[in-house]
Amino acid sequence: MSDLLQNLNKNPLTGWLTKALGLPNPVILARESGPYRAQPFKGKRVLLLGAASGNLETVLRQILEAAGAEIHDAEPQSGDERFDILILDATGLETTADYNSLYERLHPVARRIGTNGRVLLLAPVPSEAKSVEAAGVARGLEGFSRSLGKELGPRGTTVNLAYVAHDAGERLDMVLRFFCGPQTAYVSGQAITVTAQTRAPEVLPREQLLAGKVALVTGAARGIGLATAQRLRQEGAEVICLDITAASEELGRVAREMGATPLTLDISAGDAPQKLVQLVREQFGGLDILVHNAGITRDKTLGKMPEHFWQQVMQVNLAAIIAADAALLEAQLIRDSGRLVYLSSMSGVAGNFGQTNYATTKAALIGYVAALGPKLAERGICANAVAPGFIETAMTDAMPFFTREAGRRLNSLKQGGQPRDVAELICFLASPGASGINGNTIRVCGQGLIGA
Ligand code: NAD
Repeated sequence: MSDLLQNLNKNPLTGWLTKALGLPNPVILARESGPYRAQPFKGKRVLLLGAASGNLETVLRQILEAAGAEIHDAEPQSGDERFDILILDATGLETTADYNSLYERLHPVARRIGTNGRVLLLAPVPSEAKSVEAAGVARGLEGFSRSLGKELGPRGTTVNLAYVAHDAGERLDMVLRFFCGPQTAYVSGQAITVTAQTRAPEVLPREQLLAGKVALVTGAARGIGLATAQRLRQEGAEVICLDITAASEELGRVAREMGATPLTLDISAGDAPQKLVQLVREQFGGLDILVHNAGITRDKTLGKMPEHFWQQVMQVNLAAIIAADAALLEAQLIRDSGRLVYLSSMSGVAGNFGQTNYATTKAALIGYVAALGPKLAERGICANAVAPGFIETAMTDAMPFFTREAGRRLNSLKQGGQPRDVAELICFLASPGASGINGNTIRVCGQGLIGA
């Protein structure tokens, strides 16, 4: 769906009016339409800074050089010098006084990040800190990065923070490629934790990241599921697209177009786990990637909610997922180094009026991945959740005009996201290089104000 404000602002007949009314002027976000490239930062000016002697400079430099970046490590010389990407290694921060170096390094360059820029801050993991003060100081970087995200967001710049465990520096390659690339156009204000608890793959592919992998995406006939299946195919995965009988015509068409295998199945049916096990075992031998995307809403305030609304949402959004996982794991059909991704929601983070049922299931998935991820880490498997904010799909298109407009603007980028933005985050989490991220929930919401 096109953006009304972007259209009005572009039009000379109406642009003056939107300006006079003080309406937001959302920038056109720079997105990628193809797969990852081996040297994604070629032609990009990257400012690599350190605050309070961080310990990642060497590894960051190696990653950036391999990715083709033009690295600068000094503050800009001329007033109009601009950078595409700013990376700050703040892993050495321990004391309140160390915050001075944060100010000293970033104050001179905060206005030098170009439109659609990327900022990534690297911080120590608070639970690994040597002192109580150091733990607090590390956590303080979240407030800093989220505020910076709100300041730079209107220019299309995203700002994110990665807490990096002391032994996880080697896991940063794909983290940089995603968080500093166009794939993160709608991911901002996030704090992820990178650890070395999960086994890392020996070799990281640079292109066709998912070649040789088998992926199953539920709810793939349209919206976010469709965009995800297409994105995984683009990176070379063999994809099984699952959806209900009512969507089978659409499912068959989209699967054919992208060269995927269609699978008509209601994941909430009692025999769905056994059917999945049988199909995966017989036709594919196992899964490397499982994206639990299918989800429904049945909104009503709790006092007015009929029981079947409650039951349907519990069944499709949570019980069916847990049952499918249990059956596939029991049958050893999730391969070593597998990637499990679950669609949560901003409603699961913040709650939402009329969505006690939906928000319960989506919040449950956040707890579920946090518990499941570490259990599977020994086999190299990661489980993470993705929490979309306002994404332009059939679901949000059905909202009343003013609710939709408000939902779209309540974020730092002043616009809704595209299904492809969610698919990019899922694709990143599904990639071999995301082995350092396990049990996390990452929002793709343009730094939505709700529940931030
Ligand atoms: P959508 O309604 O456009 O698509 C969902 C797909 O899931 C449909 O094709 C549907 O047929 C399928 N599906 C529903 N029940 C199923 C079942 N029992 N078995 C198999 N397939 C089933 O939804 P969307 O907007 O693309 O959202 C996808 C996921 O992202 C959902 O889990 C949703 O809760 C979540 N999400 C979406 C948004 C958003 O703004 N669109 C925001 C937050 C979270």
